[in-house]
Amino acid sequence: MATVQEPGDAGGRPRKALVVEDEPHIRELVALHLRLEGLHVVEAGSGDDAIRIAEAEPFDLVILDLMLPRVDGMTVCRAIRRQRVNGDVPILMLTARREESDKVLGLESGADDYLTKPFGVRELVARVRALLRRPRASQSTLQIRAEAPVVAGPLKLDPARRQAVVDTNVIELTPHEFDVLYLLASRPGIVFTREMLLEQVWTNDTHVTERSVDTLIKRLRQKIEADTREPRLILTVWGTGYKFTDA
Ligand code: CA
Repeated sequence: MATVQEPGDAGGRPRKALVVEDEPHIRELVALHLRLEGLHVVEAGSGDDAIRIAEAEPFDLVILDLMLPRVDGMTVCRAIRRQRVNGDVPILMLTARREESDKVLGLESGADDYLTKPFGVRELVARVRALLRRPRASQSTLQIRAEAPVVAGPLKLDPARRQAVVDTNVIELTPHEFDVLYLLASRPGIVFTREMLLEQVWTNDTHVTERSVDTLIKRLRQKIEADTREPRLILTVWGTGYKFTDA
């Protein structure tokens, strides 16, 4: 029997929403109604918090107030759009006045929809449902998700779940860790330079250096290798970079 996917459900996993609003009563109201829709809600009271949170975990929806102190909603929206993790997340922008709404649309902030305050709960819920039903059609983020599972020796990678299993142990990976491991393991024996890994995985992130790649590989090895002093899966190619074993 075919099952109908409800807005609050993404294949058994509760969908996650990030609510960014500095006015506590509005934030709580929005969060409450999203929870009633079955969503798991994370709240942020400032733009910088929102960017930090959105960098660390994937969301199915972002509700973003335009007027925020220090880092405004437009900046947050652009920052989220540049991220690998949430680059294609549906974003519903909250604006205070009609003129602001027009500005948001005119500037092509990257928001998918907007809602002018004050708004009714029914209108909010209707927009949220519509955004959750809309297929996420993006390039880079979905590319990895759409790719096939990889099995390499004791390692299994499931891009749909972004999950790694070594033998029978499920390994928790950050999005960057998963992406690096997937890139390497799906092309065993191919050497990736640190620069290539940076370009492929940390798209548009200017804060990372080649040292960040080494640090991430070190963390990955701690998670997947039986003995980190003698790695058998992720191999160092001295003077060049890394490759996944093709043995
Ligand atoms: Ca505000």
